[in-house]
Amino acid sequence: MRQLLPGTAASRGCALGQARVRLPHALDVEETRIAADAVESELERFHAAVETVRAEMRNLRDRLHGALAHEVGEFIDLHALLLDDPELLSGIDDLIRTGQYSVDYALRLQRNRLAAVFESMDDAYLRSRIDDIDQVIGRLHAALHSRQAVLQGVSGEILVTDNVAPAELAQLQSQGVVGVVTAGGSPLSHSAILARSLHLPLVVGNPHLLQKANDGDVLVIDGSSGLVVLEPDASDLRAHHARVKESRRERRQLNRLRREPSRTRDDIDIKLWANAETRDDVSEAHALGAAGVGLYRTEFLFLGSNVLPDEEAQFRAYRDAVLAMTGRTVTIRTLDLGADKADKTGLALRDEPNPSLGLRGVRLSLARPELLRTQMRAIARASGYGPVRALVPMVAGAEEMLAMHAALAAAVQELRSEGREVAAHIPLGAMIEVPSAALALPGFIADCDFLSIGTNDLVQYLLAADRTNESLGELYSPLHPAIVRVLHDVVRTCQRRGKPVTVCGEIAADPVFVPLLLALGLTELSLHPATLLDVRQTIRSQTHARLRAALPALLRARNRAGIQRWLDRHGRDCN
Ligand code: PEP
Ligand code: MG
Repeated sequence: MRQLLPGTAASRGCALGQARVRLPHALDVEETRIAADAVESELERFHAAVETVRAEMRNLRDRLHGALAHEVGEFIDLHALLLDDPELLSGIDDLIRTGQYSVDYALRLQRNRLAAVFESMDDAYLRSRIDDIDQVIGRLHAALHSRQAVLQGVSGEILVTDNVAPAELAQLQSQGVVGVVTAGGSPLSHSAILARSLHLPLVVGNPHLLQKANDGDVLVIDGSSGLVVLEPDASDLRAHHARVKESRRERRQLNRLRREPSRTRDDIDIKLWANAETRDDVSEAHALGAAGVGLYRTEFLFLGSNVLPDEEAQFRAYRDAVLAMTGRTVTIRTLDLGADKADKTGLALRDEPNPSLGLRGVRLSLARPELLRTQMRAIARASGYGPVRALVPMVAGAEEMLAMHAALAAAVQELRSEGREVAAHIPLGAMIEVPSAALALPGFIADCDFLSIGTNDLVQYLLAADRTNESLGELYSPLHPAIVRVLHDVVRTCQRRGKPVTVCGEIAADPVFVPLLLALGLTELSLHPATLLDVRQTIRSQTHARLRAALPALLRARNRAGIQRWLDRHGRDCN
């Protein structure tokens, strides 16, 4: 039966396809008891599911070849051992037999019991073993409901899941998956950023679909409005086809702006840089006339593989980006692993109690000097092929910038002594995304060649609102007087000291916020190519002097509603 299930738009584009449901590992099952005469059949269902999963494991093991077979095989063996663990199995049997719980609820209870034991362990490695229990329980649950537990897509499918990791997205798209709907997540998570980069429609914050959809159900999703239709009727299909046609028409119109300048009506040029994660982003940035790459997120090189990229692999990726930009500057950000950008290599710690406040970004680089040296060498080598800047994420103050200058200088010196070509100067900039860096900026701006404001994290840290937590809603929003004030102060400090400053958070990619950024005096923005032409169109409709004159009113706004009113009044096109 047709159902409308709204979520939050995260990556635009419409998709029509069949649902592939992946249930969460931590089972969200309500307490359900069964009748005494149903106990035996419930036990049989459970044992049949165990057999299915055992067979799946054997099958997986037999299909493994190549270099990773040994490592991956160990995981599979561990999961197979857990499946034979009497503690796990007889515990579930007992819960069904004596507690008369449904097998789903018994799985949940047993999972939580074991999780409590693991969580109380002092040893971080043992504590992290709960992930394995979750995976085994997730497989059993999937087998009970005849669903595939592993993330695997088929062309024409829309994945419906609790959450999706950045590393999974690229794999899904290459399998032909046409869209993703998640129960949790946020439009500002790294998965959402990557989905936009891959042009993969994504709707987040839609818990109802996960409960209602079954494999094979037909879905229509709209990544621009967040709307999802389960079992669409004829009018939904017509509306979907019309939207696809309309967005093609809009694209064609926008494409006319490819060669036009990003210039306001009163002739102020705004430099539009591109954010890039992949080689395709870089090519797109070049084709759309981006001024350069303002943010090359290097962590995406680390996310997809179990092995760390060595100097040569990193160098080749950076050099290719530099060559593809044909003389326009490429800003390569040093590794920003951690928090929601967890990798498969185990480099970023998995069990930090507060990952967003943990060892991420520059902190991880400085804690792993060999890793930093490798990356600095790769960046410096790429500078031999065209203009390169290096950008440091998660800077909290002066000390980190000094340490990063030293690391870059050491890499440059080494390379020169090896006879390699390195640019005469590689500008080193700081991301302003940690509140302490924004406040302390006057004290260390002399150590920065340029600045880039990361509003995604700045909003998170300034408002104490997790950027990945959909349930926080409006609490995570750049429409806050504190954000406006900090942006204003940082831009003013940079202008007074003659340092170039860019905004590279998602706020710069949203045409709605562009008038606010121009009013604050920003003349450089960095955004994903997917919305570069939309932002250029907005810039071309604005009068810079009029927005600057409205700055005092913006700074006087006392709350979100006040900033929204300012945007409604001053943000409209002047056409
Ligand atoms: C930011 O925090 O605004 C930013 C651009 O960096 P990332 O989204 O990669 O954390
Ligand atoms: Mg950031």
